[in-house]
Amino acid sequence: MPTAAMTIPGAHSAVPVPRAVTPRADGRIDLVGLDRAQLSAALAEGGFAEKQVRLRTKQLWHWIYHRGLTDFAAMTDIAKGDRALLESRFVIGRPNVTEALVSIDGTRKWLLRTDDGHEFEMVFIPDADRGTLCVSSQVGCTLNCTFCHTGTMKLVRNLTSGEITGQIMLARDALGEWPKPGEDLTGEARMLTNIVMMGMGEPLYNFDNVAGALGVVMDEAGLALSKRRITLSTSGVVPMMARCGAELGVNLAVSLHAVNKETRDEIVPLNRKYGIEQLLAACAAYPGASNARRITFEYVMLKGINDSDDDARTLVRLLKMHDLPAKVNLIPFNPWPGSAYECSDPARIKSFSKIVFDAGISAPVRTPRGQDIMAACGQLKTASEKKSRAERDREAALESAA
Ligand code: SAH
Ligand code: SF4
Repeated sequence: MPTAAMTIPGAHSAVPVPRAVTPRADGRIDLVGLDRAQLSAALAEGGFAEKQVRLRTKQLWHWIYHRGLTDFAAMTDIAKGDRALLESRFVIGRPNVTEALVSIDGTRKWLLRTDDGHEFEMVFIPDADRGTLCVSSQVGCTLNCTFCHTGTMKLVRNLTSGEITGQIMLARDALGEWPKPGEDLTGEARMLTNIVMMGMGEPLYNFDNVAGALGVVMDEAGLALSKRRITLSTSGVVPMMARCGAELGVNLAVSLHAVNKETRDEIVPLNRKYGIEQLLAACAAYPGASNARRITFEYVMLKGINDSDDDARTLVRLLKMHDLPAKVNLIPFNPWPGSAYECSDPARIKSFSKIVFDAGISAPVRTPRGQDIMAACGQLKTASEKKSRAERDREAALESAA
C-alpha cells in the first residue's frame, strides 16, 4: 500500500502531504477537485484524442460541478463509447461516510474517511438566513493549541484538493441541492450558502490544496459560491496571509484567543514564531479588508486564562492601534475529555463582550451548536477511535476465548 507521503519544503510547513490525488484501490482516478487544466491533462492521459479534450472538459465540468452527477452513464451529451472510457479510467468520488448525525437543533455532522483510511469531520450549521458548512483542510493539526482537540491528534496529513472539494459536494448531495434540468437553483434558494474553513486543520499550512479546492468551489460554471460567502480561519500563519487575500480574496478569520505574549505563546504555540504585533500588522495589510468586509477575530473564552476585563480592554486597544476593520467572535470553550480548561462563566463572557462592544466593535457570543452530536471539532473522530479500540478489544477477547 503506498503511503504517498512526502515533506513540503520551506520554512512554514513540515506536514506530510499526499500526492495530488489519493490512490484508490481500483486504480481509477477521482476527477473531483481537479481544475480545468488538470482535468484536461487527465483526459489526455486517459486516452482521449487531443481534439476532443476541450469539449469533454467543458461537458464534464458542467456535469460534475453544476449538476452534481457521479455517474458517467447519465452524461447524455457524451458519446456512449466515451462514457465507457470515462467509467473505466475515472470516478467522480465523494469522501466515504463513516457516520452521519443530525442534532435536535438541525446541526449535522459527518465523520468522513479518505480512500486511504484517514478520518476527518465536516459540520453543517443551518440558521434562519444562511447555512454554513464547516470544512476540514487536514486530518489532525500540527499546531497543538492547548484548548483544541484536533491539535492533540497524533496523525496529521493534508487533505487533497479533491478531498476538500468533495466535502462541499457531499453536503450538496445530502441536502438535495443539485439543480434539476432547467432549474435555476442559485445562491439564495439553497440551504448551503456559506463555507468556513474552520474544521480540522490549519488551512494556511495546506495552502495549495485549499486554494485548488476553493478555486473549483468559486468557479461560476460550477459550484459558484462567491468569495464573499467563504471564510478562511487561520491561527496566524503570517507568511501565507497576503497570498490568501491576493489569490483567493476570501474573508479572513484569525484565531487570536489572547492579547499578551505570555498567554498566547502558551495557548496558541504558533505565537512563538509569529507574534501578536506581526499578526495584527498582517491583518491590517490583508487585501480586501474594509469596513464592509471586516476581519473576524476569534476568541475562545477560557476561565481565568484570557477572560478578564483588562484582557478585553487590551483587545480593544490592539485592534484600534492597528486601525483594523474588525469584529470579534467570542466562542465559549467547548470542553473535551482530558482538556485542561473550563469555559468562562456566562457573566464573565457578558462583561468581556460589553467592554468590546462599548468600544464600537461588534463582539457577539457564539451559541454552541449541535452539542448532542459532539459537533465541536475533533470530538466525533475521537469517539469513533474509542469505539474501534473497544471493538478491537472485544475481537481479541473473542479470539482468545475460541
Ligand atoms: N486551524 C484554524 C481553523 C480550525 S479551528 C484556526 O485555528 O483558526 C476553528 C476555530 O475553532 C478556531 O478559532 C479554534 O481556535 C476554535 N476551537 C478549537 N477548539 C475549540 C474548543 N475546544 N472550544 C472552542 N473553540 C475551539
Ligand atoms: Fe490547529 Fe486550529 Fe486546533 Fe490550533 S485551533 S490546533 S491551529 S485546528
